[in-house]
Amino acid sequence: MGELKQVTLDASESSGFATTKLDALLGWARKWSLFKYPFVTACCGMEFMSLTSPRFDGTARFGAEAPRFSPRQADLLWVVGTISQRQAPVLRRIYEQMMEPKWVLAFGTCASCGGFYDNYTTVPGIDKIIPCDVYVPGCPPRPEAVIDGLMLLQDKIARGDKTPGVVKPREDPAAGVVTLRRSKDSVR
Ligand code: SF4
Repeated sequence: MGELKQVTLDASESSGFATTKLDALLGWARKWSLFKYPFVTACCGMEFMSLTSPRFDGTARFGAEAPRFSPRQADLLWVVGTISQRQAPVLRRIYEQMMEPKWVLAFGTCASCGGFYDNYTTVPGIDKIIPCDVYVPGCPPRPEAVIDGLMLLQDKIARGDKTPGVVKPREDPAAGVVTLRRSKDSVR
């Protein structure tokens, strides 16, 4: 019969390794299992539908397809569109009801900074009400930009990074075509 040996580990070495690996595992699991709560108020909603359509497949392949219409079951708040002063307390309440850890994505220029609605009825950016993790500018943003924003958020979740991030504008390939056509017209 074999002898049983008690193996003791140095706590200072083992706990650091185990904690790091556990954090990495949790970050990986969280970034691929996001449950979204869409707070859609305005025209950016059309592009939100486009994002989730089969053409762009902008949420399912990132593990963020399933919507939750109770904030208590959601961990990713999508703020899509303009937020009026009257909607502000509602948005704040929804955010407070969400479970931890939770993240917020500002979809479009209006949600990011109020857009061109520079008036007393509009909130000049959702970060005046709730913390925001990723801003996706654009009026509305292209689905590719939102996908960039979602990937940026996934990266932050995996690293445990809570600093806000902004999606940089991409070069629109269609814009080059328009410029070319205009320059041809001007020659005539
Ligand atoms: S950013 Fe543009 S498209 Fe989006 S809600 Fe504002 S006005 Fe509408």
